Amino acid sequence: MFRKPGPLDFVTIGREMLEVWDREQIFAQLVAKNRGGPRYAFLDGPITANNPMGVHHARGRTYKDVFQRYKAMGGFEQRFQNGFDCQGLWVEVEVEKALGFNSKREIEAMGHEAFAQACRERVLRFAALQTEQSRRLGQWMDWSSSYYTMADLNITYIWHFLRECHRRGWLYLGHRVMPWCVRCGTSISQHEMLESYAEVTHRSVVVALPIVGRERHWLLVWTTTPWTLPANVALAVHPDMTYELVAVGDRRYYVAAAARPALPGLTDVRERLPGRALVGLGYTGPFDHLEAQRGVQHRVVAWEEVAADAGTGIVHVAPGCGQEDFELGRRQDLAVIAPIDDEGRYRAGFGELEGGSVSDAPPAVLASLRARGLLFHEAPHRHRYPSCWRCGQELIFRLVDEWFIRADELRPAALAANDGVTWVPDHMGLRMRDWLTHMGDWCISRKRYWGLPLPFYPCQACGRLTVVGSLEELRALAVEPEAVDRLPELHRPWIDGVAIRCPQCSSAVCRVPEVGDCWLDAGIVPFSTLGYLEDRSGWARWFPADFVVEMAAQVRGWFYAQLFMSVALEGRAPYRTVMAHERVLGEDGREMHKSSGNAIWLDDAIDRMGPDAIRYLFAAQAITDPVRLGPGAGREVTRRFLTLWNVYTLFVTYTNVDRPELPPDAAAPRPRGGLEGWILARLQSTIREVRDALDAYQLPRAVRAVEDFVQDDLSNWYVRRRRRVLWKGEMTEGKALAYRTLFHVLVRTCQLLAPVMPFVADHIYRGLMPGRDPGTPSSVHLTSFPEPDAGLVDPGLEEGVAFVRRVLRAGLGVRSAAALKVRQPLAQVLVLAPPTMLPWLREFEANVLDELNVEAMDAAPTDLTVADALRAHGRATWAPTGHAPIVLTAGDGPLRAAADGDVVVALDTRLTDALKRKGFARQLVHQIQLLRKTAGLAVDDRIHLAIATDAHRLAAIDEHRDFLCEETLALDLVLGEPPTGFVVQHVRLDTGTAVVGLRRVERPVYGDLKLK
Ligand SMILES: [Zn+2]
Ligand SMILES: [Zn+2]
Repeated sequence: MFRKPGPLDFVTIGREMLEVWDREQIFAQLVAKNRGGPRYAFLDGPITANNPMGVHHARGRTYKDVFQRYKAMGGFEQRFQNGFDCQGLWVEVEVEKALGFNSKREIEAMGHEAFAQACRERVLRFAALQTEQSRRLGQWMDWSSSYYTMADLNITYIWHFLRECHRRGWLYLGHRVMPWCVRCGTSISQHEMLESYAEVTHRSVVVALPIVGRERHWLLVWTTTPWTLPANVALAVHPDMTYELVAVGDRRYYVAAAARPALPGLTDVRERLPGRALVGLGYTGPFDHLEAQRGVQHRVVAWEEVAADAGTGIVHVAPGCGQEDFELGRRQDLAVIAPIDDEGRYRAGFGELEGGSVSDAPPAVLASLRARGLLFHEAPHRHRYPSCWRCGQELIFRLVDEWFIRADELRPAALAANDGVTWVPDHMGLRMRDWLTHMGDWCISRKRYWGLPLPFYPCQACGRLTVVGSLEELRALAVEPEAVDRLPELHRPWIDGVAIRCPQCSSAVCRVPEVGDCWLDAGIVPFSTLGYLEDRSGWARWFPADFVVEMAAQVRGWFYAQLFMSVALEGRAPYRTVMAHERVLGEDGREMHKSSGNAIWLDDAIDRMGPDAIRYLFAAQAITDPVRLGPGAGREVTRRFLTLWNVYTLFVTYTNVDRPELPPDAAAPRPRGGLEGWILARLQSTIREVRDALDAYQLPRAVRAVEDFVQDDLSNWYVRRRRRVLWKGEMTEGKALAYRTLFHVLVRTCQLLAPVMPFVADHIYRGLMPGRDPGTPSSVHLTSFPEPDAGLVDPGLEEGVAFVRRVLRAGLGVRSAAALKVRQPLAQVLVLAPPTMLPWLREFEANVLDELNVEAMDAAPTDLTVADALRAHGRATWAPTGHAPIVLTAGDGPLRAAADGDVVVALDTRLTDALKRKGFARQLVHQIQLLRKTAGLAVDDRIHLAIATDAHRLAAIDEHRDFLCEETLALDLVLGEPPTGFVVQHVRLDTGTAVVGLRRVERPVYGDLKLK
C-alpha cells in the first residue's frame, strides 16, 4: 500500500523533508557516495553577511543549488563550500545604522576596537541566520566549511597579491578627484558607481562675473553645483561655438547664442563672435575675497567639451571638485583649490563658509552671491546624479590621495583570458570585454575601519614603499616581532600598532591608515579557499572553477575582481563558465527594497509559498529577465504543479485498490509500441532534452521540457487515455503494463525534477519507492540522474502519435463547429492522410474512436485537392476508388470536414435513434459519476443505482444497462423512484430530466468484489 497523498502543500512538504534529510543525513550520504568521482568545481561568490536574506537573494542561490544537485546526481565530487563577505563599507554602514551613528567621528569616539568587534559580531550573527535561511530554501552546502573574507587567511592572500602587483610596478599613490561620500567619509570606485545614478533636482545658478579691463562687461556662467564656486579658477568656452554680446540697460553680457533664448531678459543682441575671441580674458572670480583664492589668476580657457544645450555655454571650472575639471586643469596648468575635508566641510581659508557642510552650503553660497550682485538667475534643474550605493547620500567630487593598481599592462591578458570563458548568456562576455577595454586603474583604498588592512609601509625618511606580502614577512620586518604574535586578528586598530623597519634605511615605518576595497576580499577566493599558497597541486585540482553564477551586475564586481587577480597571479581566467542573471523585482515591477515596502523576506516567502515554489519561479524564468515576485506567483506554481500531483494521486489511489505487481526498482517495462511504448519514448526524449539543457546551463529550457511532458504527454494524453483501463475491475495484461509504465514514468519524473524542486520530488519519490527493495536509494537525491534508455527511444512512434493527435484536434474542431457534444456518439469518421501515416491511425484506432466518440473509422490516402478545396471553398468532393463521389463540407451538410495541412478529417453528423439513445446513456453516466463524487464515495465503492424518468428514456437505459452499471460500479440498477436511504439528485439532460439515486454498498459484505 502506498501512503495516500493529501492536498498539495509546498510549505508542509518543505518542512517535513528538511527533517527527513536531517534525520537520515541524506546530504552526508550524497557526499560520501560521490567521493573520488569526477570533479565538478563550483565556486561560490560570497554573500554579504549583513542582513537577513530577502527573497531576491534566493534567485542566485537557487541556480547554485540546482546545478550542484544536478552534478551530484551525475556522480560528481564537489566541495559544496559557501562563502560570506564580511568586510567593507556595506558592513560598516549597517553597524553604524544599528548604533545610530551618522559620521566617522562617532566611530572614533566609540573606539576602533569596539567598532571592529561590533562589525565582526554582526557578520557572525547574520552568517548564522543566512545559513539557516539557505537550508530552508533547500540549498545543500557543507555549511561547516563556509569561508569568511574577514579571516586572516583571506587577508594575507590579498597581501600576497598586492606585493605581486608592487613587484611589477603596478601600485601607486594617485592624486585624483574621486567621487566621495561625505557620510561614509570615503572614495567610491568606478565599479561601485554603477547604477548609482538617479534623477534628482538641484538648483542651477547663473552667475555674472565681471571681465577685467572692460567696464560693465560680464560673463554669464552656469553651474548646478554652487558649492564648488568658491573653488573656481577658470571659465571654459567652446572655441568654435557662437557667442553673443547682449545689452540689458547699461550692462553687457556674454552668453552662447544657443543658450540665450532660455535666459530671462536677454533680447537685445549687439554682437556675435566665436568662443575663441573670449579665450584669454581675465575676470573677477565669484569668491575672490576668500583667503583660499589669494593669488589665483582667473581666465577664460578653450574646451571642446562645452555644450550649450543646458546653461549658458560658459562653464565654471573647479579642478579640485570635478574629474573632468581636474583633467582640464592639468592640461591648462590651472590652480587647484580643494575646498572640503573628509567629512564634506569647508576647510580653513573659506571665510564665512569655513566649517560648513557642502550639503548645507548652497543657500549660503547663493546669499553671498546675491549680496554682491553676482547672481543673475536661478532655477530648479533635474539631472542624473550619482549617490552612495551603500547609504544613499549624494556623492560629491573631491581631490584625494588614493592607492591604485595600474591596469594597462594587465589589460591584454585579461581580455584574452575572458575570450576563453563561456558566458551564459553570451552577451555578458561582451559586456565584460567592454568593461576590460575601458576600465581605469583600480582604486583599491578606502579611508575606513573594518576592512582589509592595506599592507603598505611608505618610509618617510627614504621614500621607499614596502608592501608586506605575508604574516611571516611582517614578523620578520617588525620593529617588535612579538607585537605581531600578539595580534588578535589582522584588522584595525590592532594591526596599526605594528611598525616595521625600512629595509632600505632602517627607519621605523607605520602602515598607511587605509583599508582595501571589498572587491579585493571577494576577488581572491579562487586562491585563498583552495590552498594556492599552501598546496599548489591540491589547488590545481579545483582551479579554474567549472561554474560560477551571480547577478549580472557582478560583471564589474566579483567576476571582474577575480578575473583581474587571477590573470595577475596565474595569467588565466579563474572560471570556465559564468552565468549572470538579472534582478528580482517586486510584484509592482519596482526594485525590491526595504524602503520601497515591496521587499519580501525569504523566511516569509518560504512560510507562505514553500521553498519549491520559490525555486521553481526562478528556475523557470529566463535569466535575462527580471523576475517579478509577489504572493500571486506562488499560487500559480501550485496550480501548474497540480497536474503531476493529480497523476501521482490517481496512481496511488488505483494502485492501492488493484495491488498490481510492481518491480521494486521501478524498472521500465518493454512494451512493443502502443501508448506505453509511446509515453516511454517521450520520456526518453524528455530526459535527453533536460540533460542537454542543464549541461548547457539553460535552466528554463529544462523546466519547460519536464512541464510539457507532464502536462501534455503524461496527463493530457497517456493518463487520460489509460484512465478507463485502470478503472476497469479485472486485472488484464494491458492494465498491469499500464501500472508498471506509470510507476516508472513517475519515478523518472521525480528524478528529473529533483534538482529544481528537491522537496516535493523527494516527497513523491519516497512515497513511491522506499521499503520496496534493499538496494533502492532512500532519497531521490541519492539516485543517478536519468539517462535515455536506447531500448525505449522511438522517434517514429513519437511522430506517429503526434500525427494521430493532430487528427484528433481536427476532428474535435469539426465537432465543436457542428455544435455536437463529445458525449453524443457519431457513426463514422473519415480521415484522409499521407500513406506513410495510415498505419499509425490503424495502430491507434481505438483511441481515435474513443476520443472522437465515433463507432467506426475509415482512412484513405490523402488527396491534396480535397484539402485545398476545403480550405478555399469550404466544400470538396472526394472520389474513393470503386465508390460514388462523396461531398465534404466545412459548413452545413451531413459530412462535416476540416483540413489541417495535408490531413482531412470528416465526421458523419447524422444521428440515428440508436446513436441518440447511446448519447443519452453516456450523459447519464457522467451525471452519476458527478453524484458519486458529491456523495463522497471512494473510486472503488460499489453502489446500488436507481433511475426514474419517462418510458421512452427508460427503454434507452434498459438497452445500455450493462454499460451504465459497469461504468458507475453499480451492482444493480432499479428503473423507478430511488428507495429511501438513497442519495438522490434531479439531473437535467439535453433531452429532458431524470431522477438519479444511489447508495453505497457496505464494504464488509462486498468490499473486495472489484479486485481481480
Ligand atoms: Zn555613503
Ligand atoms: Zn627608509
